[in-house]
Amino acid sequence: MNQSHYDVIIIGSGAGGGTLAHRLAPSGARILLLERGDYVPREKDNWSTRAVNVEGKYAAKETWRDRAGKELHPHTNYWVGGNTKFYGAALFRLRREDFGELRHAGGISPAWPIGYDELEPYYTEAEHLYQVHGERGADPTEPPASAPYRYPAVSHEPRIQQLSDDWAQLGCRPFHVPLGVMLDERNPRQSRCIRCETCDGHPCLVSAKSDAQVICVDPALQYPNVTLVTGAYVSRLDTDASGREVTTVHVTRNGAEEVYRGDLVVVSCGAINSAALLLRSASDRHPRGLANGSDVVGRHYMGHINSVLMALSKCPNPTVFQKTLALNDFYFGSEEWPHPMGHISFVGKLDGVTLSAGAPAIAPGWTLELMGRHSLDFWLTSEDLPDPENRVTLDRDGRIVLSYRLNNEEGHRRLIAKLETLMQRQRACAVHGHECHQGLFSRNLFVGQRIPLAGVAHQNGTIRFGRDSRSSALDPNCRAHEVDNLYVVDGSFFPSSGAVNPALTIMANALRVGDHILGRLGSRRSDAVATAALGAAV
Ligand SMILES: Cc1cc2nc3c(=O)[nH]c(=O)nc-3n(C[C@H](O)[C@H](O)[C@H](O)COP(=O)(O)OP(=O)(O)OC[C@H]3O[C@@H](n4cnc5c(N)ncnc54)[C@H](O)[C@@H]3O)c2cc1C
Ligand code: SF4
Repeated sequence: MNQSHYDVIIIGSGAGGGTLAHRLAPSGARILLLERGDYVPREKDNWSTRAVNVEGKYAAKETWRDRAGKELHPHTNYWVGGNTKFYGAALFRLRREDFGELRHAGGISPAWPIGYDELEPYYTEAEHLYQVHGERGADPTEPPASAPYRYPAVSHEPRIQQLSDDWAQLGCRPFHVPLGVMLDERNPRQSRCIRCETCDGHPCLVSAKSDAQVICVDPALQYPNVTLVTGAYVSRLDTDASGREVTTVHVTRNGAEEVYRGDLVVVSCGAINSAALLLRSASDRHPRGLANGSDVVGRHYMGHINSVLMALSKCPNPTVFQKTLALNDFYFGSEEWPHPMGHISFVGKLDGVTLSAGAPAIAPGWTLELMGRHSLDFWLTSEDLPDPENRVTLDRDGRIVLSYRLNNEEGHRRLIAKLETLMQRQRACAVHGHECHQGLFSRNLFVGQRIPLAGVAHQNGTIRFGRDSRSSALDPNCRAHEVDNLYVVDGSFFPSSGAVNPALTIMANALRVGDHILGRLGSRRSDAVATAALGAAV
């Protein structure tokens, strides 16, 4: 049995854990990063839509269950860098209003215990760290920022530019998606990113995506005080007799049990696995699960209401990198509907192979291959509200059960209707006239698919932070109310989910919590020095 002691143990190396490790690395503190996965192998399959989307080569090989006991195979990834290895790298800030209470058609989106201004400097830092390419001031709902993006927005290809122009002519304010890809369009021969069609959902074969492994974990490992252990599944956390301090981190690795000890323990396994870990760590002192006197751990699971919608036209869409355009005009509602609707953007370009995995209803007269060549592939996100009954629990064998009932759907339906209307009002195509779109965008050809429960890409909310220990598990610094040396820095802490992609908020918060932890480590060090000095003087 391996026994080792560290100043900080971080469990999980994704957006939260990886970013935190990067923040703490220069401090000299002994840091251990425990990651259940390995490095994603660099191989041609990284960019194969068949291997990635049809065969699920890199997806977690686990089975969870839903509320009814039906098996589900989660679309999640266990690797160094976590889900950021596969993300589309659209790195948005939540809106300022998302931090306050917001009234939705389906209920209340609760306020956060910190305001936007508290996170703002960390958003800026996270954007710089993750090399976000964007344009300030074009997104009409964008919150104020203290610095410009360091890199110019990724340009639109002609079909996407045409759509952007059409939307602008209709009075909308389309803008460029802020993206974490290392693309240098002014210097293509030097550019690390080659602008390919297999980015969103795929690992980057040339390490040009700003993911947590490339940007944070690998640089952190340059410090001698940082250690990464891969293949290390954390099964349980034990506390001392008082229940106020985690003393032992139990790991299963290569079929054997290992034990690690740290002064501070940070859980960052993703919102579902972090909740599961705390629930698995129930004890006499914490009978409902570690740090769960409030009974909120595992509850309030949110994952956004997401839809992929394909708009077909007679003209092909030859776009390679499609995820450059977004629309937030309806984020907070519209003139006729005073409630939030959400965010319109794109997924990576779909092809026939990808469509064959869980294909939407085929449009009459079209093959999947043809649909893939002629579609614009939209991604629509609306906010789902925190419901205590939407939750992560464990079954008798310790397996994850994800219970979820969709809520707040009306805004999403209206967002889809808005997009449909906008698409029907596109300018006439030079080749086919209005025939290019008309009819093609009638209901039966505007095919769409709601992302199913297994699509847990935007998971958040299961270990919420707050000021009141009766209704939250973490304090505003993301430290457990009930356990002095336990923190959580993945997407679990969100009290509400907003309607933009979550990763930048997780990264910014990890930097914020990192500063808090550095303060704690610093004062501990100076206490130790003072005690030593006192000892010498006596
Ligand atoms: C296909 C896809 C596209 C996406 N696109 C975007 C996008 O464009 N923009 C955006 O903002 N977000 C996007 N996301 C979501 C984004 O990736 C997540 O929000 C983000 O990675 C979550 O960060 P996290 O730290 O909470 O968890 P993760 O990044 O998932 O990290 C958790 C880590 O913990 C490890 N782990 C889990 N359990 C254990 C355990 N018991 N012991 C040890 N280690 C453990 C996991 O292996 C993993 O490495 C996308 C996600 C997917 C899957
Ligand atoms: S080369 Fe660029 S576009 Fe292609 S996967 Fe890598 S970061 Fe994404």
